[in-house]
Amino acid sequence: MPLFSLRPNPCPNKQFRQLLGVGFGALMACAAAQADSLLIRNARIISGDHPQVQAPQDVLINQGRIQAIGRQLGSADRELDAHGQYLIPGLIDTHVHLDGVPGYAGSHPEDEPMLREARVQIPRSYAYFGFTTVLDLTGDAGFIAKWNAQALAPKAYFCAPVTIPNGYPLAWLDKNAQFQAAASRYMLFDPAQADVYPDGFPRQAHTPAAVVVQARRDGARCIKVFHETGFGRQRNLPTPSLALIRAVVAQAHQLGLPVYLHGNSQASYEFALQAGVDTLVHGMWHENKGGNQSAAQGGWARMAREILKAGIAVQPTVQVLYGEQEELNPDFFNDPKVVHAIPQSLARWYQGAAGQWMRKVLAEGIEGGAKNPAEQYETMKAAYQRPLGTVRQMTRQLLQAGVPLRFGSDTLSGPFYTQFPGVNGRWEMDRWLEMGISLPRLFTALTIENARALGLERTIGSVQVGAQADLLLLEQNPLQSVAAYDTIVLLILNGKAVDRQELSARGSKGAAQ
Ligand SMILES: [Zn+2]
Repeated sequence: MPLFSLRPNPCPNKQFRQLLGVGFGALMACAAAQADSLLIRNARIISGDHPQVQAPQDVLINQGRIQAIGRQLGSADRELDAHGQYLIPGLIDTHVHLDGVPGYAGSHPEDEPMLREARVQIPRSYAYFGFTTVLDLTGDAGFIAKWNAQALAPKAYFCAPVTIPNGYPLAWLDKNAQFQAAASRYMLFDPAQADVYPDGFPRQAHTPAAVVVQARRDGARCIKVFHETGFGRQRNLPTPSLALIRAVVAQAHQLGLPVYLHGNSQASYEFALQAGVDTLVHGMWHENKGGNQSAAQGGWARMAREILKAGIAVQPTVQVLYGEQEELNPDFFNDPKVVHAIPQSLARWYQGAAGQWMRKVLAEGIEGGAKNPAEQYETMKAAYQRPLGTVRQMTRQLLQAGVPLRFGSDTLSGPFYTQFPGVNGRWEMDRWLEMGISLPRLFTALTIENARALGLERTIGSVQVGAQADLLLLEQNPLQSVAAYDTIVLLILNGKAVDRQELSARGSKGAAQ
């Protein structure tokens, strides 16, 4: 008899019954090896399409789908007792940028192990904070396919970024790099800049119709356009004409693709109204210059009603501003959530001289000269009060008007370690509550409404028979407190159960893989 048969079978019982949280991790290998069906007993379901706590029921998952919901559903390869716990749909973030390691711009071979560990951890960090589906608003098909091949990653979709030369975001690239194949794939031929294109630039392949058709062929779920005159070192950038964007919108709608507009100013909100886009992907934090805030608010209320009438949804993305501000927070790395998102080696690098580069850029921009870090942080917070006030007030106007608000964290909007994947979405939830958005509304925005935005409401965003099994088990009720999202004990990612602790960056094993 070979020796190995004397070892105890790690998966001894097909009818294995297991209380949650007790040695669950050890069962994962068994789950992968044998189980296709999972029975969750006694769960209090809260579905995206029906945000109320239901009486305890059993949920049978088979081959990655919810097969049945009810009582006495028979047995399964694995069973869990979820008594006292809440079963909700996996969360959906419709504004992320998945490529790259936050705040890392160089290419030093000695950093490679750290970067490898970070790349392994990033998808897990999204999942750790409950995100099972994400939309990359400036994605490309090749990268998204690779992302989706990872074992413990939220499922990603992408929007094709339709750009003009020298505009946002291409202006951050070298003049020639913007015309190279990858960057210019969905670039428009802009008649207002006819002389900037290199000789032989194939104009016919870059009409609004042609780039939208190309995006659709590449598998994009949506089109992203930009109305941004710049910030930081890049200002007075050209923006696409209304005629150009209207033509993009017409073609996109003909092919069933929604159009997302990057815009965060009063001017870009007006542009969105005229262009007929579907979603504005930032809150409005730049008001018209020289205006008096209280006088402007009548105009904002009117604009909110027009946005409602035009059928445009808005992502407030307040965490964009917090990400910038918190880069100067000396206590940032002491936040207890951070350790679960950022691998230790990368956190150490961020706090060293090389990793502090963006913090230094921001600190140098503070008026009145350098002081100690605590004072710099206070000055920074004071500087962000006005844009934060504007975006909060405008979001309240949108709420009052009844404009649909979409949950999108814009992870990450710049080279900031403060917007690390997963945790940044969790903080955006806090920002929503601060603006007076109710917990049920936050819950539906994170689930069914984002599923609808992706055209996937039959597959994700609710707990219903036939849906993809992307689910979270929580110890607390997310309709009662936002902190309930911190009590996830188990994720079911495309039908596979994963203990939340396995996803934490603390004890990350990425570098060894
Ligand atoms: Zn973005």
